[in-house]
Amino acid sequence: MYTQPLFNDLNERQLEAVKTTEGRLRIVAGAGSGKTRVIAHRYAYLVNVLGIDPAGILCMTFTNKAAQEMKSRIATLVHRGNVNDYVCTIHGFCVRFLRQEIFRLGWPANFQIIDEQDAKVLAKHVMQELGLDRTKATVRKFLAAIGLAKGQQRQHYVGRYMLPGSKDVEGSDEFSRYLKVQLKHFVLDYDDLVYFTLYIFDHFETVRRHWQQEINYVQVDEVQDCDRDEWDVINAVSGGYNNLCIVGDPDQAIYEWRGARPSLFVNFKSDRDIFLTENYRSTPNILDVANSIIAHNRDRLPKELFTRCPAGALVLYHHFKGETQESEWIVRQIKKNVAGGEAQNSDFAILYRASYLSRSIEQELIKQKVKYVVWGGIRFFERREIKDALAYLSLVARNDDLSFMRVVNLPSRKFGPASMQHLARLALDEDRPLYDTLAAHRGEATFGHCKLDGFVRAIEQARQAMASGKSIGDIFELLMRTTGLKDLLRKDEDEDRLENLDELAASIAYYEDEHRNDELPVTIERYLQDIALYTNADYRKDGTAVRLMTIHQAKGLEFPCVIVVGMTEGIFPSHRALRERKRAAEEEERRLMYVAVTRAQRVLVLTESEGYDNAVQGEKYPSRFIGEIDERLLTVKGNPDPQLFAASRALAARLADDLEMATRADEAGIHLGDVVAHPVFGQGVVVEQRPGGSLVVKFAVGNRMLMPAVLTKCE
Ligand code: ATP
Ligand code: MG
Repeated sequence: MYTQPLFNDLNERQLEAVKTTEGRLRIVAGAGSGKTRVIAHRYAYLVNVLGIDPAGILCMTFTNKAAQEMKSRIATLVHRGNVNDYVCTIHGFCVRFLRQEIFRLGWPANFQIIDEQDAKVLAKHVMQELGLDRTKATVRKFLAAIGLAKGQQRQHYVGRYMLPGSKDVEGSDEFSRYLKVQLKHFVLDYDDLVYFTLYIFDHFETVRRHWQQEINYVQVDEVQDCDRDEWDVINAVSGGYNNLCIVGDPDQAIYEWRGARPSLFVNFKSDRDIFLTENYRSTPNILDVANSIIAHNRDRLPKELFTRCPAGALVLYHHFKGETQESEWIVRQIKKNVAGGEAQNSDFAILYRASYLSRSIEQELIKQKVKYVVWGGIRFFERREIKDALAYLSLVARNDDLSFMRVVNLPSRKFGPASMQHLARLALDEDRPLYDTLAAHRGEATFGHCKLDGFVRAIEQARQAMASGKSIGDIFELLMRTTGLKDLLRKDEDEDRLENLDELAASIAYYEDEHRNDELPVTIERYLQDIALYTNADYRKDGTAVRLMTIHQAKGLEFPCVIVVGMTEGIFPSHRALRERKRAAEEEERRLMYVAVTRAQRVLVLTESEGYDNAVQGEKYPSRFIGEIDERLLTVKGNPDPQLFAASRALAARLADDLEMATRADEAGIHLGDVVAHPVFGQGVVVEQRPGGSLVVKFAVGNRMLMPAVLTKCE
């Protein structure tokens, strides 16, 4: 039975939440207050004490990782590890539901689930049938339109298009054609999983009654991040007994950009609310920092949160003169702590706002031989676009066949496997590299359908630039422009990959700068040799590893030591997000900061550096979030320029006062030619208005591209 020590592990309110099994219960609480712990214990209470069959308990959370974690926590608490598959994500539940029930729609139980990649293949197939252009961008747009149409119709499209024999299936528009192919092959994408489930719940009363009777208890963690459809699933499945326990923290809602509706959590009609107020995760210093940041959000309900954990050190904010120094210092600290036996690698989590920010820290970890994993992501130098770009550089400098094969058809030049085979045979006969063979034979009929002139021109141009002593950075930029690699990503609106390429360009510029005074000339060959350390790094998995991840990925997790890097205005909060979504985004960015800070148990370090960053498009200065922290809560190191630091505070204060943050120039009343003032750069003149709403301003220090919100118009 449920043993006493388990009860002892909970405070009074947690215990109350665990024992409140009947009715609609909402648990609202800040980070680290034991929400997830309550969910796990509540499950154990239902099974161990009330004797509920685990088959009658549905326990859902947001991500696969969190579901796995939940499952293993529960397994340690219940008799004989008696957990079943109903501890899962919402999509996971839909899959299980549909495997049993989809036959009612005339679909087979072994329907296939397709991911984004498969969906693209399917879309291309349909687009070909319809005689549509099939570039990556159009495929993406096509699928986005399908997703949008499904979202608008919600489960109604299922009845109209997705039932075998449904007469509307004969439609000739893109939407119905795509659905027809889905139906033909019996494939569902992630959205369909939810809509099909809802459709069956809505249209088959016996099924609804059956499930609502089978599932006695429903509990959902991280519910602030559920969207409207996921809520419908929760309501449908819990509608019988109405024993629903939802758990969340509106201050940690970080998925509104993807359609999450935290308001549904806030407005939930509960029979009982339980507020947990004690944080068991972090030191008071860390918690105070978290609270002082989140207090700047207007759109929130204030919450009480305290901790009895020992005080611990003050939160450290460290400024650096450059990102290499930032990374070097971080890795050195980790090594020092591990060597001193105070910690192991896995105690450290390095968090960042965007995945391109891992580059500098990864290089340093590899250099100093510290094991690490990129949690839920790919190592920087293994990312596809990075390998592609480096292959182009290598082809230019080394003329190697491997690189040639990687890039010859990238972007597509209609150079398929048959052309490759033919070329390889020619190259073998003539005993020369593939590229040279291609350059010589490209005019021949066999290659007539390929678009190879531009490719050869791009490589030749880059080689000329190399011969005339142009910098690697210049050659790289030239290649990115002339080969069409960047255009391809731009057309795809693949911002993450573009950011990675920009980061690679910035790192090349940095590399050249670093070796400016060397005796040996800085050549592409030497650069490639030097970074081979990173591109060919040996990643053995043994031992414990430092964890690197985006803040989104860190949700729900905790680590003894957390280091948040890139705490620079423009990087975090992300100006891209702010530009797109204005004030709502500012508050979501701040909640993200709250999530980052509250992952830390004992030690929290925030770092940022001077220099240049593509995302910022100008001089870097500390994030407004640092400015928002009460000075008394921080140890400040690295001598941040007091002027810059003050500016960040001033900016934070000003934006907080700015009820409707103007992100467009016209809203801010700023026009071309106006004289404006900036807290850091002083006075300047607006010389250009960019389509996205930002302004190029000429200051004494040079031109800077800025958001209008940070400028004041001078009369
Ligand atoms: P988040 O909002 O980040 O998801 P949470 O509210 O889900 O956090 P948990 O992860 O459940 O919080 O708990 C945070 C930490 O506090 C965990 O290490 C957990 O084991 C511990 N904890 C929670 N409640 C207690 C308690 N009553 N006694 C001791 N430790 C506790
Ligand atoms: Mg949790």
